[in-house]
Amino acid sequence: MNSQYIGRFAPSPTGELHLGSLVAAVASYADAKHHSGSWLLRIDDIDQPRKADGSSESIITTLNAFGFKWDGPIRWQSQREGSYRKAVASLRERSLAYPCRCSRRQIEKMAQPGVEGMIYPGTCRQWDGEGASQVSIRMLTTSTQTSVPDRILGRISHNLKEDIGDFVIFRADGVTAYQLAVVVDDYLDNITHVVRGADLTLSTPRQVYLQRQLGYPTPQYAHIPLVHDHKGEKISKSDGANPIDAAQPLLALHVAWGFLKQRPLTEPMASVDDFWNAAAKAWRIEALQDAIAERSNINSS
Ligand code: GLU
Repeated sequence: MNSQYIGRFAPSPTGELHLGSLVAAVASYADAKHHSGSWLLRIDDIDQPRKADGSSESIITTLNAFGFKWDGPIRWQSQREGSYRKAVASLRERSLAYPCRCSRRQIEKMAQPGVEGMIYPGTCRQWDGEGASQVSIRMLTTSTQTSVPDRILGRISHNLKEDIGDFVIFRADGVTAYQLAVVVDDYLDNITHVVRGADLTLSTPRQVYLQRQLGYPTPQYAHIPLVHDHKGEKISKSDGANPIDAAQPLLALHVAWGFLKQRPLTEPMASVDDFWNAAAKAWRIEALQDAIAERSNINSS
């Protein structure tokens, strides 16, 4: 095994795996195996209100049926509350994060739209947090550019203050926000390579900013294209969108492989293990770069 490469797949248990999540799992697994790396499975189950009953179990069963083999025990976000709280406390102690009592409705009234959601105007920056319960905690952002290379997209960059605003790292309902949890998880698991869906591209500069403030290393990122439904919308687990057929894993693996612009695997295959042996050798992440370059040539001609 190559300790220089530790990848992961981190589904949220909000429903059954669908083709979009299978594509993300295939890309991260094939990339890890191609580099003789480790591959971890983490269940992002911190957001209890959004959890769908039984979906963690069904995701694990489906991944097994598709021949994914993760290294070590499954990681569960719900078991890491203590680490998240420590990270939040460390940011607050250094005045890099602050309590906020604004409601969503108040923010909508006073804020401008940014690249993802409203840009929080910093109203509570000066508030001392006296006497408040049920507040959220926001990360103080700055106007400098936070920029990170992406193995497929080139470079992802945001001026966090102007594009995003001070973002929530701990929610008023007592749940650690996704942005903070994922950064702490990737650090605790020594993740070196993150391969995931392009819906998280916009989150990446916020995560890199948090890594820098917490003194964590930044993994290498690669964001893969999303699978859209016939209406052109991203398919998502919580819509109950097209669960994949675990009874025919080879068929679905080939579909996901083709979606990832990989050369068809022509070896005879009797099992999912045969698929993965061939896929680990043949995987070329560059094929996705080529597809993006081609698309931008078509758009600009
Ligand atoms: N749990 C997140 C999701 O299912 C993915 C987290 C990540 O890959 O960073 O969308």
